Amino acid sequence: MELARTDFYLDGRWVTASGADTVEVQNPATEEIVGSVPAGSAADVDRAVAAARAAFDGWAGTAPADRAKALHRLHTALAARAEEIARTVALELGTPLKVATRVQTGLPLTVLRGYVDLAGQAPAEHTVGNSLVVREPVGVVGAITPWNYPLHQVVAKLAPALAAGCPVVLKPSELTPLVAYLLFDAIDEAGFPPGVVNLVTGTGPQVGAAIAAHPDVDMVSFTGSTATGRQISHLAADRIARVALELGGKSANVILDDADLATAVKVGVGNAFLNSGQTCTAWTRMLVHRTRYEEAVALAAQAAAGYRLGDPFDPATRLGPLVSAAQRDRVRTHVARGLADGGRLVAGGPDAPVPDRGFFVAPTVIADVDPDSALAQEEVFGPVLAVIPVDDDEHAVAVANNSRYGLAGAVWSTDTDRALAVARRMRTGAVDINGAPFNPLAPFGGYKQSGLGRELGSYGLDEFLQTKAIQR
Ligand code: NAD
Repeated sequence: MELARTDFYLDGRWVTASGADTVEVQNPATEEIVGSVPAGSAADVDRAVAAARAAFDGWAGTAPADRAKALHRLHTALAARAEEIARTVALELGTPLKVATRVQTGLPLTVLRGYVDLAGQAPAEHTVGNSLVVREPVGVVGAITPWNYPLHQVVAKLAPALAAGCPVVLKPSELTPLVAYLLFDAIDEAGFPPGVVNLVTGTGPQVGAAIAAHPDVDMVSFTGSTATGRQISHLAADRIARVALELGGKSANVILDDADLATAVKVGVGNAFLNSGQTCTAWTRMLVHRTRYEEAVALAAQAAAGYRLGDPFDPATRLGPLVSAAQRDRVRTHVARGLADGGRLVAGGPDAPVPDRGFFVAPTVIADVDPDSALAQEEVFGPVLAVIPVDDDEHAVAVANNSRYGLAGAVWSTDTDRALAVARRMRTGAVDINGAPFNPLAPFGGYKQSGLGRELGSYGLDEFLQTKAIQR
């Protein structure tokens, strides 16, 4: 056992967990147990929520400039741990170290930096007729997060909640809790008032459900599966608590017939396989005009074959394992079903070689996927790309929108007006045209069953504010 963390962070200090239960953390590349954290209970959640409640008035009343200073100190303390964070994510999640450094560590630092600036600006007040309209923090926030971007997903909730004046109780995923401990080491060093930021680790049914159902939690901000999001909504509905939900996706990458095909396919495959495909925004359905279809399928197969699987710490590795044996088995089942439903295997698949140890799945491309089949409809969360032919732009939009999800998407065309016209018609929270760069200040969130509310930038901050009208 390398990394045993035994405490929760409650009321501004590390506190020994009340029970003796623990959750083990496994390295998915080696299958070894590499650490453990306490498995909390409803009683631990009660302590954390009480601390947050007691901190609310003070933190809500703190001047924005002082909240910004605290977030700035946190950014400094977190940035000082960048290397350790990247190594920890590579260890507990299996993300290749280069990606763990650039995305898993770089992105949350960028997002946090953005909220230092936003925190310093008091929410705008304005007058409508005889009313003064003011924005106030929503209250105590419960944050429940998944394992696939284990620091980013926490920071995308914690930073705007704190900036808005809300204390937070966090429960990170039990599969990747170690990086959350590094964040709380930084929080401890940065020095927030007691109770403003609290950490309770453990399982979803024990700790997550206790947070979602707690009468003193005013808002639950959740990222994870649509099934769990639904359960959390039910728990919160009993007391009409606000929820923000970032859920699953099955995003379409629409490649029009005038696209730069080589770039569109290469970037599209890279997007689908990022973090071993364990990315909620992954473009997992590649829709290609029939006139360019076979060319695109060949390019996708060739790109997939170039992904080297292996040890996340080896600089030559481009694809790590999946997070767990259960996740690997789920992905295998999806692949088998996709092939049984008539998909044509053009790369990877059940017989492709993978390392003996670790939860690896070979990068897989399946062509001729029926848009109504399970492989085109279900979130796989693994390195599996479905390629689907479409007749024209109209048909592409119809197939792209044939999903209960609507989180992300892409359009490729050398005619940007044509691409924009397609992008506008896609029922999804975000669309990237021709591989445009990620914008951390843009709103992020889902249409349909991909979620409720928006994260990032000023949109993320708004989620944690409520609006009051004062008539004069
Ligand atoms: P999950 O829903 O199983 O777990 C997410 C979190 O919820 C974990 O902390 C878990 O312990 C907790 N949880 C589980 N059951 C709970 C319950 N009954 N009550 C309260 N909390 C509970 O999801 P996961 O397997 O960790 O993550 C993968 C899923 O997350 C994928 O479906 C993916 O699409 C989605 N995701 C969405 C986004 C987004 O921003 N939209 C980002 C990343 C992941």
